[in-house]
Amino acid sequence: MTRRDGILFVVSAPSGAGKTTLCTAITDSLENLTHSISSTTRKPRPGEVDGRDYYFVSEERFREMKLAGDFAEHAVVHSNHYGTSKRVLLDMIKEGVDVILDIDTQGARQIKDHCNTAVFIFIMPPSMAILEERLRNRRSDREDDIRKRMQRAVDEIRDFGLYDYIVVNRDFERALSELRSIVVAERCRTKLMKVNWIEELLK
Ligand code: 5GP
Repeated sequence: MTRRDGILFVVSAPSGAGKTTLCTAITDSLENLTHSISSTTRKPRPGEVDGRDYYFVSEERFREMKLAGDFAEHAVVHSNHYGTSKRVLLDMIKEGVDVILDIDTQGARQIKDHCNTAVFIFIMPPSMAILEERLRNRRSDREDDIRKRMQRAVDEIRDFGLYDYIVVNRDFERALSELRSIVVAERCRTKLMKVNWIEELLK
């Protein structure tokens, strides 16, 4: 018997804040925590694998899925569509598995409207200058791209009030430890517990 339903951890950050690396590291380091695989119309980047990083789908397929009500949330980011499968989330929650949703602030807002037990975490860069430096060091981004990402970062950071926690990613190990502490503490919340196992304990 599971002691509680799975928890949704919604994690957002501006591009370049180190969110993907942190999300991979935390799912690797904690049991019973997985990350949801989104569908996207974006083309795969070198090294990305369909079904592991994303489900890469056509615009038409995405539209069909949207019309069928398959998504718990969906959004357009940098002109590409992204969406999270409703069915996968519901299955995980029912099985008591915690899920990380690495999604943007538009998607976070939609989850907030429908799920009052989800936990919202924002990964903050230490400064805008460091964020820009990290984007430039990626080298794959062109100048106009960097400018667009910086503008978008400002807009996303302005949405910080939506989130329950802010983790500043200045030092990776420290940010990971803070993220892990949030997950571990949220797992112990009384209000999420199914009471029957406590009743069993008292028999
Ligand atoms: P990237 O294309 O660089 O992997 O992701 C771009 C942005 O889209 C990131 O901020 C990422 O969190 C966001 N994203 C990825 N999957 C989803 C999703 O299913 N829904 C929403 N709303 N955003 C997503």
